[in-house]
Amino acid sequence: MKKLITIAILVLTLALLSAGEFNEYYFRFELKDRSLLTNLGQMISIDKVEGFQVYAYANDNEWKAFLNTGLSYQLLPHPGINPNAIMANSKADMRAWDSYPTYEAYISMMYDFAQDYPNLCRIVDVGTTVGGRNILFAVISDNVQQREAEPRLMYTATMHGDETVGYILMLRLIDTLLAGYGTDPRLSNLVNNAEIWINPNANPDGTYYGGNSTVSNARRYNQNGYDLNRNFPDPNGSQYSGQPLQTETSLMMALGMQERFHLVANLHGGAEVVNYPWDHKYDLHVDDAWYQSISRAFATSAQNNSPSGYLDDLNNGITNGAEWYVTTGNRQDWTNYAARGREVTIELSNTKNPDASTLPDYWTYNYDALLGYLEQGLYGIHGIVKDAWNNPLPATISVLNHDDNLTTVESIAANGTFYRYLSPGSYDIKIATNGYDDIIVEDVVVSTGLATPLEVIFGTLPEVLELPLAAGWNQVSFNVLPENPADIISSISNLIQIKDMNSSYNPIMASQFNTLNTINPANAYYVKVSAPSVLHLEGTAAQGIDIPLKQGWNYIPYLPQESLSVQIALGSIINYVQDLRLGNLSWSASEITQMQPGKGYWVLVDQDCQLNYPE
Ligand SMILES: [Zn+2]
Repeated sequence: MKKLITIAILVLTLALLSAGEFNEYYFRFELKDRSLLTNLGQMISIDKVEGFQVYAYANDNEWKAFLNTGLSYQLLPHPGINPNAIMANSKADMRAWDSYPTYEAYISMMYDFAQDYPNLCRIVDVGTTVGGRNILFAVISDNVQQREAEPRLMYTATMHGDETVGYILMLRLIDTLLAGYGTDPRLSNLVNNAEIWINPNANPDGTYYGGNSTVSNARRYNQNGYDLNRNFPDPNGSQYSGQPLQTETSLMMALGMQERFHLVANLHGGAEVVNYPWDHKYDLHVDDAWYQSISRAFATSAQNNSPSGYLDDLNNGITNGAEWYVTTGNRQDWTNYAARGREVTIELSNTKNPDASTLPDYWTYNYDALLGYLEQGLYGIHGIVKDAWNNPLPATISVLNHDDNLTTVESIAANGTFYRYLSPGSYDIKIATNGYDDIIVEDVVVSTGLATPLEVIFGTLPEVLELPLAAGWNQVSFNVLPENPADIISSISNLIQIKDMNSSYNPIMASQFNTLNTINPANAYYVKVSAPSVLHLEGTAAQGIDIPLKQGWNYIPYLPQESLSVQIALGSIINYVQDLRLGNLSWSASEITQMQPGKGYWVLVDQDCQLNYPE
C-alpha cells in the first residue's frame, strides 16, 4: 500500500512538472532606436539594457512574437544554469552561508526561525504557487504576535526565480536580526521599532524549476511561464500583453492591500543598481529627491563595503526606472500607486545565479546597506489619526503643493497610523476623513534621520455638566447645552417647577399655562424638585455669551467650564460689583470666594454694565 501511494505521488509530481514545462529563452539584441524599447517591453521580458544592447527573456509565445520583428539576436546560455550551486539540506548544513538550501531545507529553516524565537518571529504563509510551493514571510518584531503602531517594512527577493543572491541574503538577514536582538543595538533598534517582513523567495517554482534539490536550471518566470514582475496591473488597469493575472501576483496584491507596507525593496539580480520609481512612465515621482537619497545611501554603503566596481551601474549605482527602460506591470510601481507604500528595486549582482562560494561576499558588501534601508523606514512623519474618543480613523494624507493622485498615503483603520517619508523640509499636511472637515497641519518639519510624530484628532469631546439638585428649590444655570436645549427641561427628574425671571414651566400644568419652553444659557433658573437627583448634561460649551446687567440686583448664570475665583470670573465687571449671593451665602461676608458651574447667582452692581466670562 505504501509503495502504491509513493508511486501515485511520483506520477502526480511528474504530471505537475510536465504541465509546467516551457521554454525560456535568454537572448541579446542590438537596438539603434531606444524608443522601440517600450513596445518591445510589452512583447518580451526585458532584463536589462546596456547602451544599445538589450538582454531579454521570452517564453514560447513571446519568442514567436519576437522572431516576427525580424530583429537579429544572439541566444545566450540561460543565467539560471549554475554548475556551482552547492546545496544544503538543513540550516546546519548551510555552514557559512556559502550554499543554497534545497526547497525542503528552506521551508524548515523558515519555520525553525519562528520556533526558535517565538517572541520575535512568526511565519506568514501567504499561499501556494502555481507549482504547489509556498510563499513564506518571516515577520520580525518585538511582541511579534501583536500589531503595534510601527512602520511595516518589507524585503522580498527572487521574484525572478533565477536571481538567487537576494534569496540567501534574506535568509541570512532573518537569522542575523533574530540572533543579534538584545545584544546588537542597531539590530535591536530595528526589531523594537518596526515590523519587518522578509520573503526570501517570491518565486520558488522558478528557483526550483530544476527540482527541489537544486537551484541550477532556475527560471525567471513562474511555472505558467510568465514574468511575475510584469504581471501587476498598471494604474490604468491594463496588464502586460494581456497576460492572465498569476496566482503569485494575486497573493502578493492581497497581502499588500491588507498590510499596506510602508517601505519595501524588491531584490533582484543581473545588474548592480538601485532602481527607483517610476518604471511605467517618464514623469518623476513627487518624492524623486527622497527616492534618490535613499537609493544613493544604499549604493554608497554597498560600494564602501566592496571592491571597486561593485554596485556602480548607470548613475554610479542608482537609476530612475523609466530612464533605464520603461516596464509595465512591475511590483515596485504597483506598491507605490496601489498600496501607497514606497518601494525600490535593488539589483544585487551582475551574475544572477552565482557560485555558492561567492554568497558570503555579497553579504559583506550589502549588510550595512540592507540595515540602512530598513532604517529609512523609521524616519519621516509618523502620524496617528483619531477621533476625540480615541478611536483610530482611516484617513487620506496629502502633502499640500507636493503630492499627486498616485502618492498620497493613508492611515489604517486598525490603529490610525500613517507614515509619510519625505526629504528634509517643512510641509503642510492635509488629513481628510469621512464625516469631518479636513484638517490642515501647517509647517510640519521633517529632518534627516529623525521621526516627526504627528497626532491628528478629529472632533471634540462634548462638555459635561453633572448638576446635583437638592429636594426643594435650587439656583441653577447651564454652561453645557445639548443639541436641543429644550431637552434639558424634560430630563430633570422629579421636576415640580422651573422658572426664570419672566417665564415658568410646570409639568402638570396644561401647556397654555407654561411660558418657559426652552433653556437660554444667558439666564439663570430656579428649579424645584421633589427628591434629590443629579442632572447629567452633555453637549457644547455655552461660551461667548454677553450678559447685560442693570444697576441693582441681577440673577446671572455661571458659564465657565470650571470653578474660578469671583475676582477672575467677574473680572469684566468687578469694579461695579457690590455683592454676590448664592442662597444665604454672600461674597461681602467672604462666604463665597469661588463661583461654580451649574449655579445661579444674584449679583449687585452699581451701574448698568455687561458681563463677559473669561474663556
Ligand atoms: Zn529581476
